[in-house]
Amino acid sequence: MGASGGVASKMDSSFDASPWPRVCDKFKHEFGQDAYKTWLGQLGYNGVDSGTVELTAPTKFVRDWINRHYAPRLKDFFLAEDPRIKSLSIRLAIKRAGVDARAAEPAPATPIEVDASTGADESAALDPKYTFDSFVVGKSNELAYAAAKRIAETDDVTFNPLFLHGGVGLGKTHLMHAIAWEVKRQNPTKRVVYISAEKFMFEFIAALRFKDTHAFKQKFRAVDLLMVDDVQFIANKESTQEEFFHTFNALVDNRCQVVITADRSPTDLEGIQERIISRLGWGLVADIHPTDYELRLGILQSKAEQSDDVIVPAEVLEFLARRITSNVRELEGALNRVMAYATLVGRPITMEMTRDVLQDLIRANDRKLTIDEIQRAVADYFNLRLAEMLSERRARNIARPRQVAMYLSKQLTSRSLPEIGRRFGGRDHTTVMHAVRKIEDLRRDDSQLDDDISRLTRLLEG
Ligand code: ADP
Ligand code: MG
Repeated sequence: MGASGGVASKMDSSFDASPWPRVCDKFKHEFGQDAYKTWLGQLGYNGVDSGTVELTAPTKFVRDWINRHYAPRLKDFFLAEDPRIKSLSIRLAIKRAGVDARAAEPAPATPIEVDASTGADESAALDPKYTFDSFVVGKSNELAYAAAKRIAETDDVTFNPLFLHGGVGLGKTHLMHAIAWEVKRQNPTKRVVYISAEKFMFEFIAALRFKDTHAFKQKFRAVDLLMVDDVQFIANKESTQEEFFHTFNALVDNRCQVVITADRSPTDLEGIQERIISRLGWGLVADIHPTDYELRLGILQSKAEQSDDVIVPAEVLEFLARRITSNVRELEGALNRVMAYATLVGRPITMEMTRDVLQDLIRANDRKLTIDEIQRAVADYFNLRLAEMLSERRARNIARPRQVAMYLSKQLTSRSLPEIGRRFGGRDHTTVMHAVRKIEDLRRDDSQLDDDISRLTRLLEG
């Protein structure tokens, strides 16, 4: 780990003995070795500059996570070493001019020929980004993921076929490519064919036309693993179905693995012959459910991390995960749009920019929340009566929830600051603005409050 050697640069000459090793020890003691390895151990220590501890993180994700979960304790640890410490600053590790910081990492594998003997250009159809490593697992897709991994990693055919189904953009194609990459990595001599049902049909039709069906049959029957994507496509295509069925039977009888995907379950496939449907259901049928908030956030974090040159603030990722619920493809598209925009205009990503750039998408995914609902939910959550929360009282246990409610009203509705002020007992818009800023600041340092707000947001947005 190059950057984390703890080599203190001479930012503050009074620091002869670096406090870093002792801070690391304290961290290990309090949070454990695993947490140390995952988080603090990733940081580089650059010394102290006029009261600010300068640290660097390899990725935005690590930096944000530490800021949110460990920053206050870290500061305590440093303070114990030196009472002059005022704050911590974690920056992203800077790339050296012209040298990509990631250059030391292995380059992505070049596309592996699916199999030269199939003669086709299937390898071109395999996306090197679609691997098991880049697939984020959550409750909604864990069965599909486990089944796909199993097929990629073992030789025995335990379920045949594997039938994956789920709505558009939920990762079916990604999993198929991941299987292909993994099988070829472990066993380069295996013949793997990945093909969309659509292409299967076109090739079949071409074979019929050129009276070359023999070669066609050979090509698909001489494989160890056949994957056919989006079989719903051959609904009502009688002769293609017929050929598909024969190929399928021949492979299964030979104990060759077959993987199929569709946008619906076998029993819901219309326009496909009964005998095919029943045979498709013989193996393992795994469905991929729509994503939940945690999975969407996980996917966004992993995608954001892959980009070196744009920093996506955590609140923007959370916002997207909350608002773009349709499917993963749209979620990725939204993130890409914001990142592309920021790069183009050369400004850092902010919430405001995100809302601007994604106006149309957000509106399409919108569920109208009212300030009233937000106030009730927040009062409930903090065990206050609504009237109490909206009152003039300044006691912290009442004022803080009030600020949270104002903050959420700004975040989750399109109401203006004056409007929000009015709904909070006729307060001025500057009061609302102050509340929003205050909560934004607190979220960074106070992980309890941060959790409360995330939980409330989820409650409100369902
Ligand atoms: P489908 O074939 O089900 O329509 P795809 O496999 O094409 O969906 O997925 C759409 C996009 O979403 C792809 O870019 C894919 O990488 C991404 N994606 C879907 N699910 C996940 C996941 N669990 N983790 C990471 N990326 C995902
Ligand atoms: Mg697909």
